[in-house]
Amino acid sequence: MIKKILIANRGEIAVRIMRTCREMNITTVAVYSEIDRSSMHVRYADEAYCIGSPVASESYLVIDKIIEAAKKSGADAIHPGYGFLSENAAFSERCKKEGIIFIGPDAYAITTMGDKITARKTMIAAGVSVVPGTTESIVDEDKALEIVKEIGVPVMIKASAGGGGKGMRLVKRIEDVIPSLRAAKSEAKAAFGNDAVYIEKYIASPHHIEFQILADKHGTVVHLFERECSVQRRHQKVIEESPSCLLTPEVRYKMGAAAVAAAKAVNYHSAGTIEFIVDDNLNYYFLEMNTRLQVEHPVTERVVGVDLVKEQINIANNLPLSFKQEDLMQSGHSIQCRIYAEDTDKNFMPCPGTIQHVREPHGFGVRIDGYVFEGFEIPLYYDPLIAKLIVWGKTREETISRMRRALYEYKITGIKTSIKFLARIMDNPVFISGNYNTHFIENNKNELFAKIEQDELHMDIAAMVAFFDYHTTFKKQEICTKKCLEMNEWKAYGRSAGMNRL
Ligand code: ADP
Repeated sequence: MIKKILIANRGEIAVRIMRTCREMNITTVAVYSEIDRSSMHVRYADEAYCIGSPVASESYLVIDKIIEAAKKSGADAIHPGYGFLSENAAFSERCKKEGIIFIGPDAYAITTMGDKITARKTMIAAGVSVVPGTTESIVDEDKALEIVKEIGVPVMIKASAGGGGKGMRLVKRIEDVIPSLRAAKSEAKAAFGNDAVYIEKYIASPHHIEFQILADKHGTVVHLFERECSVQRRHQKVIEESPSCLLTPEVRYKMGAAAVAAAKAVNYHSAGTIEFIVDDNLNYYFLEMNTRLQVEHPVTERVVGVDLVKEQINIANNLPLSFKQEDLMQSGHSIQCRIYAEDTDKNFMPCPGTIQHVREPHGFGVRIDGYVFEGFEIPLYYDPLIAKLIVWGKTREETISRMRRALYEYKITGIKTSIKFLARIMDNPVFISGNYNTHFIENNKNELFAKIEQDELHMDIAAMVAFFDYHTTFKKQEICTKKCLEMNEWKAYGRSAGMNRL
C-alpha cells in the first residue's frame, strides 16, 4: 500500500491532492522551484525538496529532478496533478522503470490519446463518433481540399499535438483552405515540434461537454456523468457545471457509454476525461481525452459524492473500484468559477503580484480549492489561477444564487482578479437560462466587460499577452519570462507617457 506520495506540482492542485493524502494517512512530499519556497504546497507538505529555478523547464518539468527528489524522500508514488508532466508518457514510463508508482495511466494510453490523429483513429475503431473530417495527417493539399468540399466550410484545422486551446484555426472560405493549411503546419512545427495537422468540420453552436471516467486495473470502467464547460474564452474554460442543461437522460446515457468505450479502447486505468462537442440537435462527437485529473474535477466530486484523488490512489494500489455504474447518480447541481489573477477587461491579461488582503467565502455548499494567503506574491512564471470556487445547490437556480453570494463575499486586494467578471456572468440572463454555447462570452461581451477605451497602447499590451499565453502553453518558459520582463518595461513606458491606467 502507498505510504508516501510526492506531488510533482504546485499551486491549488498540489494542496488539493495533499488534503486527500492527509485524510488517507499518507505522508506527502512537495517539490518546489526557488520562487515557490514559501508557497502553500510547501507549507502543507510533510517534506519538501527544492528542484531548481523558477522557470518550469528547469524545475517542474525536469523528470530527473523529480525522480531524484522521490528517491531521496523515499516516496513510493508520484501524483502529477494537471499540467506540467501529467500527460508526459516518458514520465509515466520512467516512474515505472524506477519502481515508483505513477498515479495515472500507462504510457500507452497517454501516447495514444496525446496525439489527436491517433486518438481519432482509435475512437473510430472503437465505434465512438468523432467530428467529421480527415483521419490522417494531411500531406496532399488537393485531397484535403476535396474533403473540405465534401464536409463543407467552416472547418477547423487542428494540430495533432495541440492542446490547451492552442493550435487550431477556423477556416470559413474554401479559397482560404490551402493557405491556412500551410500556415497551420508551420505554426504546429514551431510550437509543438510536429507539423501533423488534420481537418474537422466546425460544429455550429457548439457545446463542450465532457464525461469523467474512473477505471481500475481489473477491467472495470465507470463514468461519473458530465461537466458542461461551454463558458470559454480563447477556447479555454472559465466556468464549469454539472449537470449540463442541454442533455436529456437518453443522450446522457449514450454519451456515458461512449466515454466508457473510449477509455476501454486504450486499456485505461485511473481518472480520465472524455471531451465531446455537442450541437444544438444533441449530436455528440469525441473531441479528445485528457489522461489526468482536470481543473474542473470538483464539480463532479460535489454532485456524485466521490473523491477522485482518493479513487486514483486506490486504483494505483491495485484495488478494484468500490462501486458500480448503477451505484452512481448526480445529486443536485454544482458550478465552479475559476478565479484568476488577471484583468478581464484587458483581454484577460495576467496580473501577477502580491496579495494584500484575502477574504474567502464560506458557508453552506461552498468549497474553495486555492493556495494564496496575505502577503503571497503570485509568481509570473506559472498559470495565474488563484483558486477555484465550487458551490453546490439542490437546483441550478439555488446554485447560481449561492455562487452570486459567494462571489460577493470573496475579496482579494493587491491584484486584479476575475471575481467581478464572474459575478456579471451569474447575473447574465443567457447564462441563467442555461441556453448557452461556447460563443457565450463573445456574444455577450457588451454586458460582461466594462466599457473601456481601446487605445493603441492597450492593443499592443493585448497582443503581447496573447504572445505570453502562447509561449506559456508551449512550455517555452524562457521566452515567456523574457517577454514578461519586457512587458513590465512597457508598463513603465506607458506610465511615463502619462497613460498610468495600465
Ligand atoms: P484543446 O486540446 O486545445 O483543448 P479541443 O479539441 O479540446 O482543443 O477544443 C477546445 C475547444 O475548441 C472546444 O471546447 C470548442 O470550444 C472548440 N472547438 C474545438 N473543435 C471544434 C469544432 N470542430 N467545432 C467547433 N468548436 C470546436
